[in-house]
Amino acid sequence: MRDERRSIEELSEERRAQQRQELADKRAHRQKGRHGLVIVNTGNGKGKTSAALGMLMRSWGQGMRAVMLQFLKAQTGNWGEIKAARRMGVEIIPLGDGFTWESENLEHDRALAHQCWRLCREKIESGQYDVVIMDEITYPLQYGWLDLEEVLAVLRARRLEMHVILTGRDAPEGLIECADLVTEMREIKHPFERGIMAQKGIEF
Ligand code: ATP
Ligand code: MG
Repeated sequence: MRDERRSIEELSEERRAQQRQELADKRAHRQKGRHGLVIVNTGNGKGKTSAALGMLMRSWGQGMRAVMLQFLKAQTGNWGEIKAARRMGVEIIPLGDGFTWESENLEHDRALAHQCWRLCREKIESGQYDVVIMDEITYPLQYGWLDLEEVLAVLRARRLEMHVILTGRDAPEGLIECADLVTEMREIKHPFERGIMAQKGIEF
């Protein structure tokens, strides 16, 4: 009887040790596992979109599903990144109409921005992507064309493993607060100041 009780105690101690190990394994797995990040590339210096493209390329190389939606880039533009994406079989979707401050039809730009946001929302909510990039989204947010609270709500409700990257100058405070990784590109020199025009492979 005493031996039997001892063996039950031993067994339950063994079970507890096993449970402790299982918990530790789960914790370690969670730490190693994917944690979706909200990433913001902002500031007045060059490199916000380029850095996002670098992450698009990295994630593509890892066999992840990635998409970049561009709020300002003209649909007719045959940029280097669009040509590369076509060859790689990666989705880059330009939905803008050039730069807004050059545009004469703000209503048209506002409608385009809404159309682009609807598609971003659809892509995020589909849960079918590992990385969703919203390039130059800060501008329609600044102009008040898009509702920041709605954008934040969609970000918060996304699939936990999904990374979302947002680019553009003057990222709003609320977006910075919500983000996990925020980088500010700061301009020190730009060739444009010396009248040097945009260079192929560097700017487009
Ligand atoms: P990139 O697409 O090269 O990573 P970016 O996304 O950081 O740049 P944006 O703020 O989106 O840059 O600006 C769009 C373009 O305007 C870029 O090609 C950039 O080089 C150019 N630009 C940035 N600063 C200046 C400046 N001071 N004068 C003229 N052009 C500029
Ligand atoms: Mg940019």
